[in-house]
Amino acid sequence: MPELPEVETLKRSLTPHLLGAVIMEARFSRRDILEISPGEDPNRFTVGSQITGLGRKGKYLLVELDHRRGWAVHFGMSGTMIHYPEAPGLVDQHTHVVWDLRGRGRVCYRAPRRFGRWIMAPSGVSEVLGDRVGVDALDPNLDGDRFGALLGQSRSPIKSRLLNQRLVSGLGNIYADEALFYAGVDPIRRASTLEGRWEGLLESVRGVLTEAIRHRGTTFSTYRDGQGCEGGNRQHLSVYGRVGQACPRCAALIQRSVLGGRGTHYCPSCQN
Ligand SMILES: [Zn+2]
Repeated sequence: MPELPEVETLKRSLTPHLLGAVIMEARFSRRDILEISPGEDPNRFTVGSQITGLGRKGKYLLVELDHRRGWAVHFGMSGTMIHYPEAPGLVDQHTHVVWDLRGRGRVCYRAPRRFGRWIMAPSGVSEVLGDRVGVDALDPNLDGDRFGALLGQSRSPIKSRLLNQRLVSGLGNIYADEALFYAGVDPIRRASTLEGRWEGLLESVRGVLTEAIRHRGTTFSTYRDGQGCEGGNRQHLSVYGRVGQACPRCAALIQRSVLGGRGTHYCPSCQN
């Protein structure tokens, strides 16, 4: 699933092609992924608008249009958005949104496993997310104390707290496992028992996210950037997808268990 680094990579790779472009035609072929404001029509809302900026909060791509309007786009399990300098590009039954840009080609949103979401924002594209998306994990105003205050008020496993997008946003299964490994924290440890370790965990979260952005995201199967290229971060993962291999820190074998329905990868020896 596209997590913070993949959405950030999409944002960066799409920006030069989309910024300033005027949307000449729009096709929204799956209404069930749209969250539309009352009295609005997605085509009327979009066509004729200029793209004035691309932003990101957590795992949402924020497409800003003129007059403070826009769309907040979530990629679900396998979504991506690709710019094609020349139409038509890849338009198949999994392509749910197509925008034709005046003189600037076409952009297609494709999600083979259909859990993506397009949220219409008639006034303020980051505000439209409200409290469903908490502070971004890379927000410079987030510090260890605040991180601990947000996540630590619970006896749930720390990994479940990291995945809760309403608390701190951007981490999914891959980077939660990686961050816990770097911090030496056992994924099932109760969040309320991490006193004194929040600063270190936040540093690990930022470290794995920043490195993954530098490698343009992680591709296992479907993820592609805005030009259709795979990310290069997979070979830099330490525990995720490495079950049975040696821990890069202590050489014990990486294990996998299931926590809250999600496969969880960790070193049984040096994470506690
Ligand atoms: Zn280890």
